[in-house]
Amino acid sequence: ERAKLSKLRRLPAVTTDGEDVELLANLEIPAELPLIAQAGAQGIGLLRSEFLFMNREDLPDEEVQYTVYRQVLEAMAGDPITIRVLDWGGEKDIEALAEGVPALTGPNPALGLRGIRLLLRRPELLEAQFAAILRVAVGGPVRILLPLVTNPEEVKQAREIYERVARRLRRKSVPLPEKLPPLGAMIETPGAALAADAIALEADFFAIGTNDLTMYTLAVDRAEAEVSHLYDPLHPAVLRLMQFATEAALRLRMPVSVCGEMAGNPRLVPLLLGLGIRCLSMNASAVPRVKQAVRSLGIDGCARFARRVMEQSDPARIQELVMGFGEKEK
Ligand code: PEP
Ligand code: MG
Repeated sequence: ERAKLSKLRRLPAVTTDGEDVELLANLEIPAELPLIAQAGAQGIGLLRSEFLFMNREDLPDEEVQYTVYRQVLEAMAGDPITIRVLDWGGEKDIEALAEGVPALTGPNPALGLRGIRLLLRRPELLEAQFAAILRVAVGGPVRILLPLVTNPEEVKQAREIYERVARRLRRKSVPLPEKLPPLGAMIETPGAALAADAIALEADFFAIGTNDLTMYTLAVDRAEAEVSHLYDPLHPAVLRLMQFATEAALRLRMPVSVCGEMAGNPRLVPLLLGLGIRCLSMNASAVPRVKQAVRSLGIDGCARFARRVMEQSDPARIQELVMGFGEKEK
């Protein structure tokens, strides 16, 4: 079994009818890098940059960040990396940022100054991060992701800062790629999913974060054991939001990926492909099994299956359908 999975590393992630699927890895700490190459991922779909800000008393400056991003890019040897700018807030607690940030003491941190909201309030954080990423981007394919977007204006404001930083670096003759790396939006709130058509006009790509999308849609904290039985990414409300956002992206031929835990579950591959998703980013260790699933499926069968699932409104019935996906549909 292990040998079989390791042989898969060199095989392409392609469906039985020839559709290519991009399988990327999520990176939470640099120690995971060797695993990514071993697993046969085609790049990094989500680099969670929070680790840079953790376990230290001050903020990591542009140089510190530049060094780390560059190491990651070099380790990926020409494969694309997607760096998500700091997603601080909610359950993530970074001491060095606390000064002057009211989110820590707010009544509900998950609904407070989190993700892109904090970065727009403290633009110097975003500036240092953009500058470090832009400098690294001359060395290979890089994309940038904005966390917890809820409206198009946030993407627009972030892009203004991004372009300002790029102009400043160019003035100082810092080498930058001719075309700036794409700036994408995480779709991880119901608001972002339902406004995806408007956000798509400002963003270059989408990454659907099903972990937070599930939490915010169902009002179930990801980390709250008392309600964990209600945390269900297959709830029809979550799936409909994913479908809506995916279709908004596909209409504009804009790249869209899924990068929550869902993406690493081989049993959910038929549904995700059927919804039109062709890019999945997951824990590196999940890549071989997901690839195996992709290689056993045909797109037509997936599309038919997704239509059947999306006709359902009962979470239990959807669970049953998804877990029962079998030979018949293939
Ligand atoms: C998500 O919310 O689905 C996601 C990928 O981001 P994180 O898990 O880092 O919040
Ligand atoms: Mg998230």
